[in-house]
Amino acid sequence: MVGMIKEDVKEITRETKDAEFGGKTVLVTGSAGFLGSWLCEALIEKGATVYCVDNFASGLWENISHLEGNENFMFIEHDVSKLLTINEKIDFIFHFASRASPFEFEHYPLEIIDSNTLGTRNMLELARRYNARFVFASTSEIYGQPKVVPTPERYWGYVNPIGIRSCYDESKRLGEAVTMAYYRQYGVDTKIVRIFNTYGPRMRADGIYGRVVPRFITQALAGKPITVFGEGDQTRSFCYVTDLITGVIKLAIAENAKGEVVNMGNPREITILELAHIIKRLTNSDSPIEFHPLPPDDPQRRCPDITKAKKLLGWEPKVKLEDGLKRTIEWFRARRHRE
Ligand code: NAD
Ligand code: UDP
Repeated sequence: MVGMIKEDVKEITRETKDAEFGGKTVLVTGSAGFLGSWLCEALIEKGATVYCVDNFASGLWENISHLEGNENFMFIEHDVSKLLTINEKIDFIFHFASRASPFEFEHYPLEIIDSNTLGTRNMLELARRYNARFVFASTSEIYGQPKVVPTPERYWGYVNPIGIRSCYDESKRLGEAVTMAYYRQYGVDTKIVRIFNTYGPRMRADGIYGRVVPRFITQALAGKPITVFGEGDQTRSFCYVTDLITGVIKLAIAENAKGEVVNMGNPREITILELAHIIKRLTNSDSPIEFHPLPPDDPQRRCPDITKAKKLLGWEPKVKLEDGLKRTIEWFRARRHRE
């Protein structure tokens, strides 16, 4: 399984050959999670010394345990909503720590708010102290129920500030405001990436952590019903993890993107019911499709306008949905056999 991911990490390294990280010191929060672990691995592969920060709220040690022993890997168990002191010059900070699954919003709203507000401020203080470049992982959720789709960065969003998802949407919005305040008031080199649904190996499928792709794949592989919420006519646009991490690395080093906010995601928009059928087909599964109630405030459409990322960074996703799903399915299959 580590081997499958290694090949994908090499793909990120190839795609980011313009980004030089040799001899640099980087701090990644949320490093034991899905996106954070990929980012750490890619940056270590590119020669950086990486301080990986996580409190295992939703992340797993097994996502990064294989990096132990590498002299460029340092792990700090820490809650980002508390101050963090590092006595070494840091060149880059990627603030990715936050629970991200909608099922978690109901159980951990205050933790989520703290990670994206206090946590963002704490990491920006470190960036200010060390003159480090800073990237904040924001989300397409800041657009709420958008009235403009595909959604460009200049759209301000249509968000329910007191709904069940507001702990996430609104704290990401404040996280963006805090980031812009450090850019304007202190001149910190900040970037905000608004990430649209991203999937791949190392996503959790269990309990409240499961997002739609790992849930459908594990249900299909086990021959259990595939649980479509609502009628399945809501849409999402799914980006494979290597494409997203490539974009994030390009953004971090971009000289022309200081103080900018950039959408990243795959512009192919599909319905959730279509996703269920594609996964059924790719897994050769006989699972029935089962319909369940739609959670409140579930966004009806999500699709990024990525014109800005193309122009600023020359970035666009390369991995087709079916190919990314096949790689993800293989990873989940291997994991099932191991368990
Ligand atoms: P994840 O749950 O796999 O990873 C989040 C990581 O942050 C976990 O390892 C968790 O333990 C850690 N964490 C949470 N709170 C923390 C705290 N207070 N202190 C220290 N560590 C903490 O989720 P992910 O999908 O990898 O998401 C990573 C980031 O990207 C999040 O900020 C999320 O909002 C953002 N994002 C992800 C997606 C996506 O589709 N995966 C989309 C939009 C935005
Ligand atoms: N979804 C679903 N069945 C599931 C899990 C999710 O139909 O078992 C739907 C969910 O209602 C949403 C979409 O899939 O419309 C994406 O859900 P996910 O949790 O991945 O993230 P979101 O995009 O809502 O943040």
